[in-house]
Amino acid sequence: MYTCAICGYKGLEMESYGKDYPSGEVCSCCGFQFGEDDDKGISHDGWRESWIKKDCPFWYSPDCPENWDVEKQLKEIGVVYKKSVVIKNSCPVCEFDGLFEPAYDEEYGYPSDDICPCCGFQFGLHDYPEKIKGIKKWRENWILGGCQWHFKPDKPAEWSPRPQLTNLVNQQYENHQ
Ligand SMILES: [Zn+2]
Ligand SMILES: [Zn+2]
Repeated sequence: MYTCAICGYKGLEMESYGKDYPSGEVCSCCGFQFGEDDDKGISHDGWRESWIKKDCPFWYSPDCPENWDVEKQLKEIGVVYKKSVVIKNSCPVCEFDGLFEPAYDEEYGYPSDDICPCCGFQFGLHDYPEKIKGIKKWRENWILGGCQWHFKPDKPAEWSPRPQLTNLVNQQYENHQ
């Protein structure tokens, strides 16, 4: 196993630049493809920076080691990183994680009365009278409708519903186990 020069992950099958040419391997941790992405002019530092900015998502999650310690991993290649402690409020309907406050109060479950800018669900309105059912139905409709961003002015520039959908599918999977 070889170490990724970008993220420090020790799970590479090949030496990234062992011979005269790059390995073409994709790091399953940071997602960089040696010989492809650098060919496009992306530097290691640049890739690492934007990867860290996204809070170091493990690129190919099935390969993610249990108790993966990204801070330690980066430290070993001399990069100081502190996992951000910014609390993200995600929407229980569509998994958008940029709500201003939690959709439901953690202690009492009070709804925030906010509208999710992504799926348009209003906590405290569309969950009435049955919360779980309301959420499920809204989510179904949102997906059936092609996962459209609800409130256009708030739409992030590079938004894609894909990661949210992945989260939703994973959750469903977990709930069924
Ligand atoms: Zn990597
Ligand atoms: Zn939502």
